[in-house]
Amino acid sequence: MSSLQEKKDRSYKLVVVGGGSGGCSVASSFSRYLGKGHVAVIEPNQEHYYQPLWTLVGGGLKNVEQSKQPMVNVLPQNCDWIQDKVVTFDPEGCSVTTRNGSKISYEYLVVAMGLQLDFDKVTGLVDAIQSDPMVVCNYSVKTVSKTFPALQSFKRGKAIFTYPNTPIKCAGAAQKIMYLTDDFFRKNGKRDQSDIEYFTSLGMIFGVKYYAEKLEKIAAGRNINVNYLHNLIEVQADKREAIFAKINSEGGETVTVKYDLLHVTPPMSAPNVIKASPLTDTSGYVNVNKQTLQHVKYSNIFSLGDCTNIPTSKTAAAVACQSGILQNNLKAVMKGNSNQKMYDGYTSCPIVTSSNKCLLAEFDFDNQPLETFPFKQAKERSSMFFVKSYLLPFIYWNLMTKGYWRGPKFFRKLMHLGLSK
Ligand SMILES: Cc1cc2nc3c(=O)[nH]c(=O)nc-3n(C[C@H](O)[C@H](O)[C@H](O)COP(=O)(O)OP(=O)(O)OC[C@H]3O[C@@H](n4cnc5c(N)ncnc54)[C@H](O)[C@@H]3O)c2cc1C
Repeated sequence: MSSLQEKKDRSYKLVVVGGGSGGCSVASSFSRYLGKGHVAVIEPNQEHYYQPLWTLVGGGLKNVEQSKQPMVNVLPQNCDWIQDKVVTFDPEGCSVTTRNGSKISYEYLVVAMGLQLDFDKVTGLVDAIQSDPMVVCNYSVKTVSKTFPALQSFKRGKAIFTYPNTPIKCAGAAQKIMYLTDDFFRKNGKRDQSDIEYFTSLGMIFGVKYYAEKLEKIAAGRNINVNYLHNLIEVQADKREAIFAKINSEGGETVTVKYDLLHVTPPMSAPNVIKASPLTDTSGYVNVNKQTLQHVKYSNIFSLGDCTNIPTSKTAAAVACQSGILQNNLKAVMKGNSNQKMYDGYTSCPIVTSSNKCLLAEFDFDNQPLETFPFKQAKERSSMFFVKSYLLPFIYWNLMTKGYWRGPKFFRKLMHLGLSK
């Protein structure tokens, strides 16, 4: 398959916008179902990345090349890959337009455009990331390779890690790199000369109480200071100072913290093109029914993944389950039947807590644990580190992007002898 790049109007039964985790999975399934020539994926990038690996890249345990595959190898062979960006949506006219001016019409549309990173929403951050090797971020392919060299060149002082006041992808990744840093400093004799602090906009260390209680103990046991309700608003690179707004404080109190290493999790939001479209709710995300994934207004549009307003933690694990639900429900709509499946909000976050331990958090819409394995998962385990670092990447490349992996429900039921949800 080669990509289509010339300006030309085209028409398809199904158009998928975005060739990331959700887009690839859905496009693969529907390319098999509808056959050659009926499915198009609009995706600008030459490369597809398995982003969950970037935590381990930042910690020096993998390299960024291991997270990458050419887009042409990941997208299904019998779809058309339109290598371009969508710039406007016209849901009434059932078409999108792309940056090069092509109009792409569809009978059905799937929107899977992920999140944009809003580095510019923090004053001075764009400049600090570009100019200071000790200001790093695992969340972008452009910056993730800076993190481990910064850990290596750190000698002493304060290392701080931030969590913003917006929804983000993989809420756990903001603190995973902190535990890997602690581990690396200990192994390299730097921990006695360093302070490690977490500054989070949230009022708790993790959104699910069951896992949060364990993570609080892990942080305390490693002498990591956690500062709640602190939102990073400015970085002054010349003075190496980070300025935080104290959330809920009277009179807009701020706190200035000197740093020697700063890992930033930037604010995130739906891509601007979605925000400017008629597809959103008031929060700017694609407005879908959280159980069926069908758009609340346009019945021929579905959406999944990070760009939606589905109220669950934004992860590839959630996308896998959503993909299964979407495949079923969109096929039902195409066939004109009402055989709908309902998404339960399943999401998962493998919280890496050292270079060989991980706590596998899995939960649903109600933040209730929905664990796959028949043992207590709120515990650091080497087996879960193996799952994170080897099994999940294998599943991703070989099953999920090909549209075959719909989450662990089958195995969960099997391992709980049918007694789990
Ligand atoms: C550091 C880090 C660690 C993570 N760890 C984990 C983890 O341990 N477990 C886990 O399950 N998840 C993890 N995630 C989250 C996971 O990677 C995402 O939730 C998942 O990739 C979301 O899939 P998506 O399809 O919604 O978006 P993406 O995979 O981001 O894909 C969106 C696609 O849309 C394309 N696009 C954007 N704009 C346009 C446009 N205008 N026109 C056409 N195409 C467009 C983009 O190029 C991109 O290819 C992590 C993420 C990061 C960054």
